[in-house]
Amino acid sequence: MNLRIPGPTPLSPQAREALGQDVIGHREPEFEALLHGVTQDLRYFFQTTSDVLVVTASGTGGLEAAVVNVLSPGDKVLAISAGVFGERFAAIAGAHGASVLQVSFPWGQGLDVRVVEQALRGNPDARLLLTTHNETSTGVLHDLGAVAEVLVDLDATRPLWLVDAVSSLGAVELPMHEWGCDLVISASQKAWMAPPGLAFVGVSARAWDAMSQARCPRFYWDLSAAREYASRGQTPFTPAVSALFALQASLCLMRQEGLPAIVARHRALAERLRNGLRTLGLALFADEQHASPTVTAVCVPEGISAIEVKSKLARDHNVIVATGQGPLKDHVLRIAHMGRCSRSDIDHVLRALDSAFRA
Ligand SMILES: *Cc1c(COP(=O)(O)O)cnc(C)c1O
Repeated sequence: MNLRIPGPTPLSPQAREALGQDVIGHREPEFEALLHGVTQDLRYFFQTTSDVLVVTASGTGGLEAAVVNVLSPGDKVLAISAGVFGERFAAIAGAHGASVLQVSFPWGQGLDVRVVEQALRGNPDARLLLTTHNETSTGVLHDLGAVAEVLVDLDATRPLWLVDAVSSLGAVELPMHEWGCDLVISASQKAWMAPPGLAFVGVSARAWDAMSQARCPRFYWDLSAAREYASRGQTPFTPAVSALFALQASLCLMRQEGLPAIVARHRALAERLRNGLRTLGLALFADEQHASPTVTAVCVPEGISAIEVKSKLARDHNVIVATGQGPLKDHVLRIAHMGRCSRSDIDHVLRALDSAFRA
């Protein structure tokens, strides 16, 4: 099977093997070594020396954890959105009583940093800025480096900056420290070649300061408790131990390859896919300038159902892709190339698409 959905993604063989181990006690010294090792490796990919906490949850749980630890009900929140995941981040803040000001861009486009800057300057009382790094629903990688530059200029009035990096980190550069991101969230089942079940939350010093003032209730998501336990190599509650073993194995591979090589490999695979799709005469959904290195959305020609093509690819070719989300459901196919993906996986998808569309 060629699993090309944007999560869960295929495991590395090493991760699969690690899943065969028996579990260990999460209050035992062996667990301490496991958590410390994984955390160190995650810091390398988050490009930070601050805390990176591992929470047992899907990515959305990680996003909610980030929000509730720094939000007080009634706080003004600026939410940048250009797709399903941008809207989800805004909805999480709204569910916890934030006064959300959504700054939306057309789906398929990258954010316009001048518009973001205007929104920031026009709302100096905004407490949080929510952004999506890679919008998985449209296949767009937003230029957060440009947002980072705007935030530096704002200095004292800058809000805390939360980044949904669930489908980018581990495959794309996101220098958390250099860009001044305050909370950065990713999840094990995306570029990390590990099973679903773990979310990672990078936390800046500014974010820790804000937490003592934030009044949203939290218990399972309390990151201060997570930090306190992590200092002793533990988690407050029972972690997904098996998923951690698998993650450790994949991180070991990823460290050997190194971030620059990983980033280059993802870019090359994405380009190979986009070139192949163009050769097949298919239109790409996302603005080429902001095309994602981890997931590509391709338009299905007029009169053809994306849902039907998806079924045909699975049935006849063993290729599993995703349809669109929300209003794009029946109009685009999304093909993931994050984590474990080879050139031949990409070529297989292209051959399958060619044959499906011919039929
Ligand atoms: C996958 C994803 C999430 C989280 O989804 P879960 O199903 O909760 O793991 C959040 N944001 C983005 C951009 C994603 O791609």
